[in-house]
This record gives sequence, structure tokens and C-alpha cells, in this order.
Amino acid sequence: MNQISPRQTTIKLAFFPTTRLNWPVVIPKPILAVGSIALDTIETPAGRRENLLGGSATFFAVATSLFAPVRLVGLVGDDFPQAGWDLFRERSIDTRDVQTLAGSTFRWGGRYPAGFNGRETLFTELGVFEGFQPLLSATNRRTEIIYLGNIQPSLQLELAKQVDDASLIVSDTMNLWIDTARQDLDKVLAASDIFLINDEEAEQLTGNPDLDAAAAILLAAGPRAVIIKMGSRGSMLAQGRERTRVPIFPGVEVIDPTGAGDTFAGGFLGHIAVHGRDDLAAAVVQGTAVASFAVEGFGLDGIRKATLEKVVVRAAAIAKAMAASLN
Ligand code: AMP
Repeated sequence: MNQISPRQTTIKLAFFPTTRLNWPVVIPKPILAVGSIALDTIETPAGRRENLLGGSATFFAVATSLFAPVRLVGLVGDDFPQAGWDLFRERSIDTRDVQTLAGSTFRWGGRYPAGFNGRETLFTELGVFEGFQPLLSATNRRTEIIYLGNIQPSLQLELAKQVDDASLIVSDTMNLWIDTARQDLDKVLAASDIFLINDEEAEQLTGNPDLDAAAAILLAAGPRAVIIKMGSRGSMLAQGRERTRVPIFPGVEVIDPTGAGDTFAGGFLGHIAVHGRDDLAAAVVQGTAVASFAVEGFGLDGIRKATLEKVVVRAAAIAKAMAASLN
């Protein structure tokens, strides 16, 4: 695993030679992301919506595009709405490796109970996804930072195989794959530098209800860092024996938590794309701030209202709360 550091470019103002300025500009690294691109039907205590644009890769890409260029890998059916393509274009998301096949786009239905405790999957219709074979273009094969979003672990592995020299692989998963694709998921874990998982899944995967111990088990399986997401209780970053707890941004009205995990990953990786991987706690703080926008509206509505400036304000508030809790 190579060390990632942001590229520093020196811009010389050659057109004004008497006062040559050296202005270091940080250019964020592009991130290659695979996952689902979906049409979601969501029921929450705040209401019901049908066929919303969603999917793990979509939420991730929209969130990450606030910070860094995104190269999206996925598959849609020929019923995929033009509004989806428009959104990708608006956010400068590179879709050269998004395939379109005749048939239906992946559809998922989910219901959240009062209090937003847990989530019930109402239906999963794979559609064209059933035959998905990711095939990377030559340019995208040479991406250093890879996000393997929630999708069948065999597809995550296939994508990782096609990348030439990835220096950072970050992965996410869900309970379904722990139940149905454990062997491949173990390979994803071993291939990952950073692994994201929620608290229930961490217990399911390790058999250990103690999150500290569960993180140690996951770290022993390969990744250098593990992040356990705990919903309204925030998250825990585990690196070696070190554990850092990051609280949520308080006072947000939750409308729809769908995509919170993927937008968290987007904010987290967006920080790494800009600043490198030396301060993962700061990256988790940014991920937390970004996810707080995602839950404020149905589908992508919440995250689409986030701006860089608003994220910075929330991230600063979270960092301040962390500092206060240490005193
Ligand atoms: P999150 O709330 O961050 O866990 O992500 C929600 C997104 O995951 C939704 O937009 C769904 O379309 C997508 N999703 C749900 N089930 C699956 C699945 N089995 N494979 C891939 N994506 C899924």
C-alpha cells in the first residue's frame, strides 16, 4: 500500500514576471466508485416516496462530488430517468463506466419504523443488475483511490482486480452479504485498507457484541482502519489499539436515513482525496457532517442541498464537541 499524499501544484504567474508568485494549489485525487445505481421506494415516519433516484454508488458519488472528481462504475436499465443522467452531469461525475442494458434498473424498497430504529427491506428487484459485469476503461483502471460501495462482494472483488495500482481501497457492505456471501466478503475485508460497517453488521460479522472487540477482530482480518457506524450514536474509528469516537451533528430533523452510510463514506473519502490519509479522524468528522445533510430529505434531496461551506460549519461543530468531551 503506497502512501497517498495530495498533489501540490505550483502555479507560477509567468504573465506577471516582476512578482513571481508560488501558489501551492491542492488538486484532489479522483475516486473510482462502484455500487448500486437504483430507484428506491422509501417509507419513513415522514412519508412515502416511489422511484427515487438512489443506490449506494449514487449517494456516494453525489456526496463525494462536493470535494473531488468521481469516476462512477455501475449499471442501469434503459428505464433509467434522464434526471439521473442530468444530475451526474451537473456534478461532473464521470459516467464512462456506467453501462446501460435493455431492461429494468435495480429497484429497492425500504421501510423505517417510528424512531428510525432499524430498517426493513420491502423488496429488492435486481433487474439488469443480475448480469452485471463491471468493465473498467483504460483511464479508470489507473485510479489510486477506490471505493467499493455496497454491492455483491464478488463484484467488489472483480472491480478491485481490474484496477492497476490502487493505493487505497475503502469498502462498505450490508447484512445481506454477511448472510449470503461470507467467503467473498472475507476476501473483500482482506483486500481493503479501510473497512466501513455499521454496528449491527459488525456484531453479525464477528459474533462479538462488544464494538471495541469487534473492531479488533475486523482489523486482524486485513484493513488498517475500521470505522463502525452507530447511527444516532455516531461512529468509532479503530486503528491498531486506538479508538476515536465521533458524535453526530446534533439537532437535525431526520426525514429519511437512506444513503446516510454512503454519503458518510463520500465525505470521508472526499477528505482523503484532498488532504491525504494522515488524519483519518478529521476525515470521519467530515463524513459525519456530510451524512447529516443526507438524512434531512427523502432520497437525494438532503445531500443535494449540502455545500462545501455548510459542511465545513457542521464539521467544525462536531470537532468542537469532540474537543469539549476530552476536557
Ligand atoms: P444506505 O442507506 O447507505 O445503506 O444505502 C441505501 C442504498 O442502498 C439505497 O439507495 C439502495 O438502493 C441501496 N441498496 C439496498 N439494498 C442493496 C443491495 N442488496 N445491493 C446494492 N445496493 C443496495
